[in-house]
Amino acid sequence: MNKYVRKFTAAAAMLALAGCGGAAHLLPQVSEGETNRALSEIEAAPALQIHQRSATKARGIVFETAKRLEDAAGPVCDQLEETVCVFNIQFNDADEMNAYATGENKIVFFQGLAKYLQSEDEFAAVIAHEMGHHIADHIDKSQGNQLIGSILTGLLFALVTASSPGYVNSYQYNQDLQTAMNLGSTVGAISFSKEHEREADYISAYILARAGYDLSKARSLWMKFTKESGRTQTGLFDTHPAGPERLAAWDKSVAEVALSKDLLPKLDNTGVDEDLLSIFD
Ligand SMILES: [Zn+2]
Repeated sequence: MNKYVRKFTAAAAMLALAGCGGAAHLLPQVSEGETNRALSEIEAAPALQIHQRSATKARGIVFETAKRLEDAAGPVCDQLEETVCVFNIQFNDADEMNAYATGENKIVFFQGLAKYLQSEDEFAAVIAHEMGHHIADHIDKSQGNQLIGSILTGLLFALVTASSPGYVNSYQYNQDLQTAMNLGSTVGAISFSKEHEREADYISAYILARAGYDLSKARSLWMKFTKESGRTQTGLFDTHPAGPERLAAWDKSVAEVALSKDLLPKLDNTGVDEDLLSIFD
């Protein structure tokens, strides 16, 4: 390893550490026993069922529910100095089992997901989760992490190949560099998504409680989805990895909400300073 590669590795380690301070909130920790109990419960849970409802009706529920959540979420946004707590909700008629947060406070909800939802509380659980991603600024953070991963992998590739005489074809070199940077970008995205999911869940528990939704019905939804995610890989589970530890953490969040006097999520004031990532904002 030459001195440039050593310097690069040290810089990569520092940036990786900076990226790890992904969650602004103090997330509930779960034990192995709690995760195992959640796993047995998931295995015994009923499979997803289709609920007959027109797309127009589903669209109406999505907009009504989102409004009620938005009206209740203000103090949770203010806590993070997130000045804009207004969400751009879009309903898509496509038969895709998905919902996602993107861009500037935009949330896209698909009819293909709505058909699996029973009560308004279940719609609310999905929307509050996506709001949680925006409130905690996960879109910018993921892009920052992706960019760091991409740049670091590209730099490593350039350093390693600079001393190698093998690359006489510059077209091939550029192709390989691009492949290396894309790989780094994917690695960056995957490394942080689980913590972001847990943080979005945690924030959503508080927003749902503030809006007066039934947290136990939201729980049954996450349980059914977790069971389903073990069998299928669809858009929803690609972007929202689920597992028994997520369900166990959800239970902890709900217990915390029940005891909370101000109905505000707990902030993690001990984490690594997020300013390290702000150059990518
Ligand atoms: Zn998510």
